[in-house]
Amino acid sequence: MEDTRPIQTREAYDVVVVGGGAAGVAAAVAAARQGAGVLLLEKAVALGGLATLGLISWYEPLCDGKGTQMVGGIAEELLRLAVRYGFDDLPGDWREKDRVPEPREGRYATHFSPTLTAMALDEYTQSQGVRLRFDTAAVFPVMEGGVCRGVLCESLGGREFFPAKAVIDATGTACVMAAAGVPTRLGENFLTYVAHYTSRELAGEFAGGGAGAKFRKWRWAGSSLSGKGHPQGMPPLVCRDSGDVTDFVLRGRALLFEQLREENREDRDVTMLPMMPQYRTIRHIVGEYEFLGTEEGAAFEDAVGSMGDFRRRGPRFQLPYRTLYHRDFPNLFAAGRIISAHGDGWEITRVIPVAALSGQAAGTAAALCVRGGCAAHQVPVARLQEILRRSGVLFRI
Ligand SMILES: Cc1cc2nc3c(=O)[nH]c(=O)nc-3n(C[C@H](O)[C@H](O)[C@H](O)COP(=O)(O)OP(=O)(O)OC[C@H]3O[C@@H](n4cnc5c(N)ncnc54)[C@H](O)[C@@H]3O)c2cc1C
Repeated sequence: MEDTRPIQTREAYDVVVVGGGAAGVAAAVAAARQGAGVLLLEKAVALGGLATLGLISWYEPLCDGKGTQMVGGIAEELLRLAVRYGFDDLPGDWREKDRVPEPREGRYATHFSPTLTAMALDEYTQSQGVRLRFDTAAVFPVMEGGVCRGVLCESLGGREFFPAKAVIDATGTACVMAAAGVPTRLGENFLTYVAHYTSRELAGEFAGGGAGAKFRKWRWAGSSLSGKGHPQGMPPLVCRDSGDVTDFVLRGRALLFEQLREENREDRDVTMLPMMPQYRTIRHIVGEYEFLGTEEGAAFEDAVGSMGDFRRRGPRFQLPYRTLYHRDFPNLFAAGRIISAHGDGWEITRVIPVAALSGQAAGTAAALCVRGGCAAHQVPVARLQEILRRSGVLFRI
């Protein structure tokens, strides 16, 4: 069956970013700050991805757990933005970090309001010159050999083509790069479902002067990070298509509903359901370098920033630029939880701050490619690092 509907060609951009999660926002802003004309395509109608629509409202640490900051730049801007108009529970040493020298107590991490953050992101991206297009699903990268000429989308307006000089896949699913032919691997997941809820008791704590994080609580069903609570006998879950997504969401939601309907209906309410499936790992690219999480303490010549490990205090890592592209695809970049990272490396890089870090690197590199007319693997790394450093990215080890 051939789709013969007309394709409308829209305005051309230097850089088209697909997906408006933490990574896509950082990528779009970074590219725009380098003077690129940037379009950010998002299939939902709000920015933030899992962090807002998916209700994952805990910003994992920007520090190494021993008092040293590892992640800066746009990742830090986004953390500060996330708590500017809503509650936070940052430890004082990090809230007042300009007044407290390192090493600082506590972890540089916080809860935040997903709703206020989504609103703040509208303003933040547009103020940086990023053009937004919601309700637009990228369905196909138009390829000439390994070169991507732009992205074909589906929206209420029908089929639309957005020409681009460089394209950044920040979809969380690698759907653009996989369709382009970049090698990818699928992830395996435990069944998890997290909603936000409140109760008479929590409202009392809030009214008594408690932080907003008390009023808006996570309510879990299914598994923890380590697999505790995953239904017995259920094989690990992969996400290949909308059938898998439907199954994952229905099973998770049914588990939560089972818990809730046993409770007194007058005493609590579920205030929000997640509007994205909460898979941790869907698919990642296999790029020029695969980050495995075994690189503790290694300094990379092509590092685009440093990070800790949210699960442990102490380890320090650098993220190589080569995790963001595949050599055969000169104008395609990966950002966020789809970068070339596997095993422990995927765990370390898929969280909000590191997704923003890889997004900033991908956006800056894409803008440099467009300006210099070079391929992703030819980006002058020293120049890329200099720009990132000036933009607040840290290169610690
Ligand atoms: C259960 C769970 C708990 C977690 N806990 C934490 C935590 O406590 N702290 C933490 O920091 N991280 C946590 N994470 C990880 C973190 O939330 C995500 O990995 C991170 O937010 C990913 O950001 P991203 O921008 O790469 O992708 P996403 O947030 O997935 O954003 C991708 C965006 O792309 C859009 N999109 C997808 N396909 C298309 C398309 N074809 N066209 C247009 N738009 C498209 C989506 O709508 C979405 O907005 C958790 C994740 C899960 C699932």
